[in-house]
Amino acid sequence: MHVLAKLFSVVAAAAAGIAAATASAEPIAFTGATIIDATGRAPIEDGVLVVEDGRIVAVGNRRTTRIPAGAKIIRKQGKYILPGLMDANVHLWSWIQAPLLLHFEGRYEEGILEAAQLKLKYGITSVFDTWGPRGPLVNVRDRIRSGQAVGSRIFVGGNIIGFDGPFSEDFAPSGWSRRVPPLDKATIDRINAIWTQGVSGDELMTRTADEVGAAVGRYIAAGKVDFIKYASSGQRDTRFIVFSPAAQAAIVAAGHKAGLTVQAHSTTVESLRMAFDAGVDILTHCNHTSDHPIPEDLAARIATARRDCSAMIQTRAGLAAFKGASTLDFDVADRNNTNLIAHGVKMMAATDGQPPTPSLQGGAPPEFFADWRHGMTWYLSSAVAHGMTPMQALMAATRNVAEGYGRKDLGTLEAGKLADLLILNADPLADARNYEDIDTVVLGGRIVDRQALPTKSIFEEGLGVLRQDARREAALKAPATAPKPSH
Ligand SMILES: [Zn+2]
Repeated sequence: MHVLAKLFSVVAAAAAGIAAATASAEPIAFTGATIIDATGRAPIEDGVLVVEDGRIVAVGNRRTTRIPAGAKIIRKQGKYILPGLMDANVHLWSWIQAPLLLHFEGRYEEGILEAAQLKLKYGITSVFDTWGPRGPLVNVRDRIRSGQAVGSRIFVGGNIIGFDGPFSEDFAPSGWSRRVPPLDKATIDRINAIWTQGVSGDELMTRTADEVGAAVGRYIAAGKVDFIKYASSGQRDTRFIVFSPAAQAAIVAAGHKAGLTVQAHSTTVESLRMAFDAGVDILTHCNHTSDHPIPEDLAARIATARRDCSAMIQTRAGLAAFKGASTLDFDVADRNNTNLIAHGVKMMAATDGQPPTPSLQGGAPPEFFADWRHGMTWYLSSAVAHGMTPMQALMAATRNVAEGYGRKDLGTLEAGKLADLLILNADPLADARNYEDIDTVVLGGRIVDRQALPTKSIFEEGLGVLRQDARREAALKAPATAPKPSH
């Protein structure tokens, strides 16, 4: 169908309050499964879910839900249909070791696409990239959106406003950059600029609040980002407050003026409190407050205000493996999670998902939360262990992420929503491990060919790059260093 004609039919259909249908799009009816719509309602036994033109047009039980004439019937007896999972915090390109950044310069899109394809393969149909190279991320996002490539839906934040690039103390304080041969300034500046895009700490920290807000406005105007994230405090070794209360408020105002959600990276109680007071929509890895737990009054305020928290919730095994591996205190983060859930804080599932990095090969601790394949399952099981019901955990990984990011057409199985489905062979509410027992993944009404994903891997090439380098070889043999849990 011609684009304009299609647009017209969508507008007309929306005006008429009905879903758009086109002659070419054959409706599909999934029948017989238990449907868990993630609105919080009880699962629907022997359900019917009808998809037309990429969207859900009807959901209900067999008796009351009409299947359109001519619909293709796909029987799913004994299966479970839920919304595609959504990960509120990933880093599709986080290979920030110098040899990899240089070797793959100009090809970051390949790794980003591979990562988005792996996430889709494992049932995560939307990912929110909260720190990465903006240009390549936007390009891959748009290729997937336009149908030129298959992958999880990508939403891009770009740089963390206030942070400098990969070759800076913000990301390499413990020595990644120092372990490589000295790089000339032009190379460092060129690579860093792919990330910073005019809103680095170097560029903003000496400015007035108004000037910071204006710079953020320019960043949004230039960058085609879907949301913005700023640093309320630094990370790991550099946990300074980054922006004053007035500057934080100016950043939030600039984001909201552009219609974008705003989130803050924080690593201490006071930076969390400042971000909350500045009016951010999402408190990113809110559970990480270094060695000082979140006070009761702040947890209660976050809960009452219904602010979204994209906490990383580790499993017991993951926690044991990470103890002492970072300047962030994982025990405190873990206690914060229990406390935030007990307060009824609105939680969004977040894995900090990162591609397999050479630093993790051969020395990866068990149950590394950012693992592409299992990270979300571990989140979902651990969320229950920390006090959520299985339904609340599912909603944290679907509806809450959609709501938090203002994506009204995603997150639940209701008429009008995009048809992103995860169909499982066993009940995920009975056991979170069943999230990995996948029957089918559906993206925008199309059944995903999971066997074809990923279509290629640049990971082995990256490993080869490091192997060629004697110094990198030594680094590979060294015990695994702490991964990057705090972007
Ligand atoms: Zn962060």
